[in-house]
Amino acid sequence: MSINAVVWNENVHETHNKIVGDLYPKGIHGAIAGALNAAGGISATTATLQDDEHGLPAERLAKTDVLLWWGHAAHGDVEDAVVERVAEAVWAGMGLIVLHSGHFSKIFKRLMGTPCNLTWREAGERERLWVTSRNHPITAGLPDHFELENEEMYGEPFGIPEPLETVFISWFQGGEVFRSGATWRRGAGNVFYFRPGHETYPTYFDANVQQVLANAVRWAHNPAARITDVTDAPNIPVERACEPITARGAKLHTDGEDGFR
Ligand code: ZN
Repeated sequence: MSINAVVWNENVHETHNKIVGDLYPKGIHGAIAGALNAAGGISATTATLQDDEHGLPAERLAKTDVLLWWGHAAHGDVEDAVVERVAEAVWAGMGLIVLHSGHFSKIFKRLMGTPCNLTWREAGERERLWVTSRNHPITAGLPDHFELENEEMYGEPFGIPEPLETVFISWFQGGEVFRSGATWRRGAGNVFYFRPGHETYPTYFDANVQQVLANAVRWAHNPAARITDVTDAPNIPVERACEPITARGAKLHTDGEDGFR
């Protein structure tokens, strides 16, 4: 069975800027979904900010194995209720791949719990991505390093929690370096951040970038998970303890499912 991936994009630059619209006639989401569908074993569809519930109603998220997220100009327009729904889906085991300027998205900041800030420069300079973890599934089939001739620079410090694994480090022509590929686990969900993808460059048509994204979808997929009710916090009263115990000491809570008074 193929992995169900949903590529979410705010779809703002493509519809408001001719350079971006000409570069990505099917939108960044269309380009990424096309590459994933060509990779084998992945069934990718798209969703945008403009869709009802941003294209991410609960029923769709429940069937989504991996969600990819591209946003930049409209982070603030994403409904908090949808962000919370996506966070709960990740905790329940849905994979999440956050792309480029998605570092400042509500969902990434929600799951990281840190500012996710960085330094940047838009000068079309060369980016060289180095693989730092050769045996990691996300780097399968890639050379030791590869270049993107024109990219925006993102530099350290990157305000993220220390990653579980750093799988790429970028060097930029101007001298900066950046942790370009980093993983985390949040609840049962695998999270991957991948840096390249500025909207005015053809980054998502690059063969190595497409390989990384397909690898990342396969890595992020956690078929064993999809726990329901991830935010449930039931009370276990004394009489239901595994071993017999006697209650003692001061007590503020009453027994029961939500026993606090
Ligand atoms: Zn950018």
